[in-house]
Amino acid sequence: MPDSRPPATRILLIEDQHDIAASIWDFLERRGYAMDHCADGASGLARALRGEADVIVLDLGLPRLDGLALCRRLREAGHGVPVLMLTARDTLDDKLRGFAEGADDYLVKPFAMPELEARIRALRRRAQPLPEALPAFAGLSYDPRSLTAQREGRRIPLTRLQGALLQALLREAPRIVSHAALIESAWRGGADVAALQTQVYELRNAIDKPFARPLLHAVRGVGYRLAELE
Ligand code: CA
Repeated sequence: MPDSRPPATRILLIEDQHDIAASIWDFLERRGYAMDHCADGASGLARALRGEADVIVLDLGLPRLDGLALCRRLREAGHGVPVLMLTARDTLDDKLRGFAEGADDYLVKPFAMPELEARIRALRRRAQPLPEALPAFAGLSYDPRSLTAQREGRRIPLTRLQGALLQALLREAPRIVSHAALIESAWRGGADVAALQTQVYELRNAIDKPFARPLLHAVRGVGYRLAELE
């Protein structure tokens, strides 16, 4: 049976609601995942900082430290582990805040367990380093293994999403990459243009703002590209 999932993907589940945690644990364990669980944000952060998880499934509303703050602290500590945020609040605001704090994907409760597993697998695939070196463009390059861009000798750490977007843009530079192609590259199709715009805004702050010449350009209504205009 073809199955590309590594034998024991380690999941850290941070969820305070016992019934939800128990059903996620049971489902994923049956599917061959190595499970770990914390029921509050403070112990979840401590566990996450050990760096043993391949994917973190993180509830937004948690006692002692909420999911957004946990995610932000994890990223500030330099951890690039994929984070899937669970939220009961289906508002655009929460989703965008989640991405701003470094979450890679989200699921709105209630969700179906196979959907959760599909998202986890997509995050794992995205986290696999690419075998080949990526082309540089106009002094800008990106190393997916360290989630780090380089421009003019300066190292620029990126989130996983921003890295995936930059990678897609570098591959085609200076050609235009459509909104749909960028969303497919970074989210495997599971996001909208508003989420893309938020990430591109952050990416531009990271790779363009400190430098004299902007490389990342919007092509209104179509997509984005890396180019040396002027
Ligand atoms: Ca909760």
